[in-house]
Amino acid sequence: MKVLVCISNVPDTTTKITFTDNNTQFNTNGVQFILNPYDEIALARAIELTDGGKGSVTVINVGDASTEATIRKALAIGATDAVRINAKPHDAWYVAYQIAEYVKQNPFDLILTGRESIDYNGSKVAGMLAELLDIPSVSIIKKLDATDSEATVEREIEGGKEVITLPLPFVAGTAEGVAEPKIPNMRGIMSARTKPLTVVEPVEVPTTSEIISYETPAPRGQVTLVPADDTAKLIELLHSEARVI
Ligand SMILES: Cc1cc2nc3c(=O)[nH]c(=O)nc-3n(C[C@H](O)[C@H](O)[C@H](O)COP(=O)(O)OP(=O)(O)OC[C@H]3O[C@@H](n4cnc5c(N)ncnc54)[C@H](O)[C@@H]3O)c2cc1C
Repeated sequence: MKVLVCISNVPDTTTKITFTDNNTQFNTNGVQFILNPYDEIALARAIELTDGGKGSVTVINVGDASTEATIRKALAIGATDAVRINAKPHDAWYVAYQIAEYVKQNPFDLILTGRESIDYNGSKVAGMLAELLDIPSVSIIKKLDATDSEATVEREIEGGKEVITLPLPFVAGTAEGVAEPKIPNMRGIMSARTKPLTVVEPVEVPTTSEIISYETPAPRGQVTLVPADDTAKLIELLHSEARVI
């Protein structure tokens, strides 16, 4: 089975977010980038499904050369090879379009993405990619088992779970529960240096969106601490300041 795992290079969760160019660009200065955590889950399951010579795992990223450290990490974790589509993506449509064009030339049996990227949180790439490839897609899966021709997936739904079987190929967005993320070992880190990483030039994609501006959330209000035995003060503050009673 040939599995493709789409990986996104995202800011570390502790990053202090700021913007440049009149609040239209994310300021990448001093930002530490990591492999999107949901993509680590997808990658771990892809490795499990193909373990023991049952197939191969290719990781693909749409990004400039700065994403190669993240790609090498995916190779160190256990991906067989990697593809980087050499472009700075500006939205989910661009990412999905580029990956779809690559897959049309290089078919896979199963395509996994994370449930969402933790930077733009769009949850859009998987659905768009499936539509562009004219194959099924299933979002936010919590369990995945696959044979060479079909798969069973589980989704969490309100008050229960949904179990679906579907034929390969399809695109799935993976979430917690599908697999435990794998930590690269020394052998993996060493072999990642020599695993194939193919750089592909992007195709022309019509622009469909434009960022007007970004805005960070308003700072939280100050916290007033009230001694545990001073109920009168608490009531007064809830009345006069918080105005909730
Ligand atoms: C310098 C720079 C500036 C950017 N500016 C913007 C911007 O202004 N607005 C914006 O929307 N995006 C921007 N991006 C792209 C952004 O990083 C995302 O790749 C893209 O927007 C998809 O985000 P999403 O939240 O819709 O993805 P989701 O649909 O939430 O992602 C789901 C899954 O799709 C896959 N995926 C997502 N991105 C990629 C990728 N690049 N390569 C391979 N697989 C991927 C991963 O498996 C991910 O888990 C920028 C990227 C760079 C490098």
